[in-house]
Amino acid sequence: MFYKYETHLHTSEVSKCAHNTGAEMARAYKKAGYTGIFVTDHFFNGNCAIPRELGWKQKVNLFMRGYKSAKEEGEKLGLDVFFGWEFTLRPYAADFLTYNLDKEFLLAHPYIDRFPLKEYSELVRKNGGLLIHAHPYREAEYILYPPRPKPHLVDGVEVNNTASNSPDNNNHLAWRLALKHPYLIRISGTDIHTTEFAGLGGVAFRYRIKDSQHFVDALRAGDAYLIIDGKITDREGKPIEEVV
Ligand SMILES: [Zn+2]
Ligand SMILES: [Zn+2]
Repeated sequence: MFYKYETHLHTSEVSKCAHNTGAEMARAYKKAGYTGIFVTDHFFNGNCAIPRELGWKQKVNLFMRGYKSAKEEGEKLGLDVFFGWEFTLRPYAADFLTYNLDKEFLLAHPYIDRFPLKEYSELVRKNGGLLIHAHPYREAEYILYPPRPKPHLVDGVEVNNTASNSPDNNNHLAWRLALKHPYLIRISGTDIHTTEFAGLGGVAFRYRIKDSQHFVDALRAGDAYLIIDGKITDREGKPIEEVV
């Protein structure tokens, strides 16, 4: 028995590039047999739909909308919905999934969207957050090349990013980075922007995740299996046979 979780998900309430609402995403993941999802919308320094000129508090309130929409629907369906975000470092456009911090943290730390990576990483980790470098070697027009991952400033790396299975994600290079730095947590994420890809990525556990802290503890304990192209794999990415 596995409990499946999406780790990298965008909603149209908050992410400009997403095509489905949080509620629609929740329904798609329930249908795909997942136990939960982490909503990780583009933060204010990324492709975020929230007007830049608003004040911090107002922006934070609006930022919660995608998560809330998913959470409310999840409560009706029996899908666990957790909060996170995707921080984008300027000008490189490197992306960092951030977990285990909440709205109160955001309200208490205005303008962290302007922080350099080192300061952001220190603040997040000091407050119990978990930082994962998303698709560290993705090639795209909006990303400054060459990529310069900073493994010492993160807790882990997204070794598999589905994102419509584009070869431009260079997942093989992300794997190489993880192998070179074995202390890094490995996760897989769909980077879902449209419901049709629900079920392709994420992580799985042998037990149900209670909250974001439990998720972090489970990852640190090495208990995560990776969901790659819809199959459950071990932490090396090898598909495993389910024991009946
Ligand atoms: Zn996006
Ligand atoms: Zn993303």
